[in-house]
Amino acid sequence: MHAFIGLGSNLDHPSQRLISALWALQRLPGLTLRQHSRLYTSAPVGPQDQPDYVNAVAAVDTSLAPHALLHTLQALELAAGRQRLRHWGERTLDLDILLIDNRAIDSDDLQVPHPQMTRRAFVLLPLLEICPHALLPDGTALSSFLGQVTEQPISPLAELDRNALIE
Ligand code: AMP
Repeated sequence: MHAFIGLGSNLDHPSQRLISALWALQRLPGLTLRQHSRLYTSAPVGPQDQPDYVNAVAAVDTSLAPHALLHTLQALELAAGRQRLRHWGERTLDLDILLIDNRAIDSDDLQVPHPQMTRRAFVLLPLLEICPHALLPDGTALSSFLGQVTEQPISPLAELDRNALIE
């Protein structure tokens, strides 16, 4: 199956964290990294007294079932020494499943599409960079939500060219 994964960090050298996470994704058994966006820097959602975030989106092909993918990503978060100090607060690495094929999943611990994705510039811009015509399972174009996030400060970082890590 094809999936999009959102990456975010705002602690402990966030850009390096994201590059390491992309390398880690690439090395996972049962998963192939197909594409990744540039790194973006965005202002925090939630508490404002925390550092800016660095965000990116990766496109992967995987033979893992959705929950196996979730648990694998959670293990990567833990390996990055994830700290979660408060709700929507600072974290060393956050990995979210955004889309899986055109499936809709609504279980206790996994909702796909990710429920917040259409409201977040830091998801929409990097996702649309690598897949401009991405759709929700109901056929809605994700680009149609861009107009609702124009107030959210976000800009690309220069230091990682698109797909620089794809072998
Ligand atoms: P967060 O604070 O964003 O890392 O949220 C983590 C929690 O969200 C975990 O307990 C997951 O089980 C749950 N969750 C629900 N849907 C998703 C998803 N699509 N991707 C990642 N985590 C999810």
